[in-house]
Amino acid sequence: MTNFYLDSNPKLPNHKCELHYVCPETCPNLPAIIERIQLGNLPDLKTAIHIARRKFYNQAHLIKECSHCSNAPSH
Ligand SMILES: [Zn+2]
Repeated sequence: MTNFYLDSNPKLPNHKCELHYVCPETCPNLPAIIERIQLGNLPDLKTAIHIARRKFYNQAHLIKECSHCSNAPSH
């Protein structure tokens, strides 16, 4: 199990046109604690994205998996 985060808050008006990326706590692209939203301790990235899209259903189409974490073979 890993802690997953959303890298920005979709409810903030200044982020309305941006994409929001889901990352595990090990991601080097994660922003500071105050700028990210904890999604919980989850089994994988796919589950984390599902949780994030359900939580912010109005912006679900803007929520993506972190390209670094989904493409990198390993750290
Ligand atoms: Zn990442």
